[in-house]
Amino acid sequence: AEPLLEIEHLKTYFPVRQGLMNRTVGHVKAVDDISITIHEGETFGLVGESGSGKSTVGKSIVRLTEKTDGLIRFQGVDIHSLSMQEVRRIRPQLQLIFQDPYSSLNPRIRIGDAVGEALLDHGLAAEGEVRDLVKEVLGACGLSSYHIDRFPHEFSGGQRQRIGIARALVLNPKLIIADEPVSALDVSIQAQIINLFKRLQQERGLAYLFISHDLSVVEHLCDRIGVMYLGSMVETGPRDELFRNPLHPYTKALLSAVPVPIPKLKRERIVLKGDIPSPVHPPAGCKFHTRCPWVTDICKQQVPEYRNMGVNHYVACHLV
Ligand code: SF4
Ligand code: MG
Repeated sequence: AEPLLEIEHLKTYFPVRQGLMNRTVGHVKAVDDISITIHEGETFGLVGESGSGKSTVGKSIVRLTEKTDGLIRFQGVDIHSLSMQEVRRIRPQLQLIFQDPYSSLNPRIRIGDAVGEALLDHGLAAEGEVRDLVKEVLGACGLSSYHIDRFPHEFSGGQRQRIGIARALVLNPKLIIADEPVSALDVSIQAQIINLFKRLQQERGLAYLFISHDLSVVEHLCDRIGVMYLGSMVETGPRDELFRNPLHPYTKALLSAVPVPIPKLKRERIVLKGDIPSPVHPPAGCKFHTRCPWVTDICKQQVPEYRNMGVNHYVACHLV
């Protein structure tokens, strides 16, 4: 089947300005040549430390009108070739969910209205139908119809994220981009929200781009996983393959920090030295070389090629 979303060689650069004249003195390569394919009903997990560019990938997809380098195809259509009218038509199908839904909820607007307003904005329902549609979608997200007239401050963190999901879901999207949607929640609540994502996917055939700094969060939800470092994808693969057979030193280090239920499967902990370097002046060659325990001379000079190691498992490392 045709992929739902295809991102090819996406590059998102931000200018760095300085001084009184606000001169451009360089560029941050926030996203530096990323390709991702997501099929209908599939979950792609995008993982990396903060500053890796994973959120920028998500935002680049939904800023439908803004020109970025590279190609973004949604249901086979290059989204930069769409007219404004067509952009409005497909916009509901691509929804973004954030880490903190509270910040996007107006404290004075009842949540029923907050969830319903997008339906009216997009002309997807008549005024008389909105309340029933909102009740239905709140129910699907594990909230009750008596919540509909309450205000945001009356809800817990987990409930607010359910409201955030309901606001996206009410538009009947094909793809939800969820950026750290459980990072602010307690571990027990995280599991509930992840189960909600799973159930909604099964019921509605949704696809997700699930962004997280935490591999143990994406493990239970994702079909495929991509690992980003300083704007570049260093490894992608099917979930089980990546967990069983990580090839990139950075992926190995991230995985070594994930708790495992069976002690004998425990990997040796790889502790990375130093911080993630500035994306304004990324290291030459392999961008990971300043922190890699296995660095060699070639790593400092040559950018490693991103190669397919079989079974759709790609990695960029000279050692592999
Ligand atoms: Fe480490 Fe070299 Fe591989 Fe980069 S290319 S991850 S520095 S071994
Ligand atoms: Mg982020």
